[in-house]
Amino acid sequence: MRTFDYLRAEDTATAIVEAAKPETRFLAGGTTLLDLMKLNVERPAHLVDITRLSGLDVIGVSADVIRIGALAKMSKVADHADIKDAAPALSESLWRAASAQLRNMASIGGNLMQRTRCTYFRDPGAYPNCNKRNPGSGCAALEGVNRNHAVLGTSDACIAIYPGDFAVSLVAFDATVLVQGSVERRIPVDDFYLLPGQTPHIEHALAPGEIIVGIEIPRVAALKRSHYLKVRDRASYEFAAASAAVGIELEDNGKTIRDVRIAVGGVATKPWRLRTVEDSLKGKPLDEATLRTAAAAAVDGAKSSGHNAFKIELTPKVVARALMTVGDIA
Ligand SMILES: Cc1cc2nc3c(=O)[nH]c(=O)nc-3n(C[C@H](O)[C@H](O)[C@H](O)COP(=O)(O)OP(=O)(O)OC[C@H]3O[C@@H](n4cnc5c(N)ncnc54)[C@H](O)[C@@H]3O)c2cc1C
Ligand code: SF4
Repeated sequence: MRTFDYLRAEDTATAIVEAAKPETRFLAGGTTLLDLMKLNVERPAHLVDITRLSGLDVIGVSADVIRIGALAKMSKVADHADIKDAAPALSESLWRAASAQLRNMASIGGNLMQRTRCTYFRDPGAYPNCNKRNPGSGCAALEGVNRNHAVLGTSDACIAIYPGDFAVSLVAFDATVLVQGSVERRIPVDDFYLLPGQTPHIEHALAPGEIIVGIEIPRVAALKRSHYLKVRDRASYEFAAASAAVGIELEDNGKTIRDVRIAVGGVATKPWRLRTVEDSLKGKPLDEATLRTAAAAAVDGAKSSGHNAFKIELTPKVVARALMTVGDIA
């Protein structure tokens, strides 16, 4: 590990000024960053500790909107009574992420900024070929063991999945990422994450010196009847093989779908909204056949790299099951 400077920022303005310096990273819970520094993947020259910034851990649920501060702990948000009631998918996606110890330490801002778990990306000593870590060097996963890699949103430069759970539920419900830098910005979460294309090392829309201060989620009716279904190789402490964040609003005495929200995780290079599937379900009867037919289109455009072909079969099933659960027909 190389040496680095450490500064504990006392206010957000200082943190922003410091973070504009090259090779600087914010330190929140440290559960991703410190791991990656030990692995020699992240090599910052300056660390700006943001854990003491005041006011960034506030959680607020009003009639129209849910606001979550970037320094709120994953466990606090998952266990927040009003969020559990108003937005089950948000709470569930956090409960099913990581372990109790990690959730107690990790922040919401850091959770959004976590990096891929691609094993080649995380092992620079053994695998120099990684376009995300070392632009232009190639991709060891394309011809390697790629069971955990993406089938949607890939490019010939990178097939790594976005690994997080919470951002999948945020994308399903049109959340906004609140950012401060030289100006304040509001970035729709769907635009916050970038496709790999030929620049997989550029993963998000945050500029140097910008800090995530919070997230806003509008309280649409489908959020109240929502669910996060995560399928993984073991029951806990494991990333998703495939997941779905869904929400549904019914009309006609519960027989017809008025509004529906769907995003999938564990299968794409960014949290993946399924707008075409949503459109095909609006105004349709709520029954198993309709849901399964629509869910089949969840993997339109998917591309297998070999070992991950099972995700193309699995994903529609996860989407259909999650929708049946919120429709009370599972
Ligand atoms: C063993 C293990 C299992 C896990 N399993 C899961 C899982 O199943 N699902 C899941 O979703 N996640 C999982 N995670 C990831 C975990 O949720 C993240 O490590 C955690 O949320 C990161 O938060 P942190 O506060 O510790 O971030 P840090 O490690 O402090 O920071 C992470 C990154 O975010 C940046 N950052 C932090 N805060 C801000 C901010 N406010 N603005 C801008 N940049 C910021 C940092 O500079 C750094 O680059 C797992 C992690 C581990 C180690
Ligand atoms: S899939 Fe992406 S992160 Fe993994 S080795 Fe290839 S370029 Fe690197």
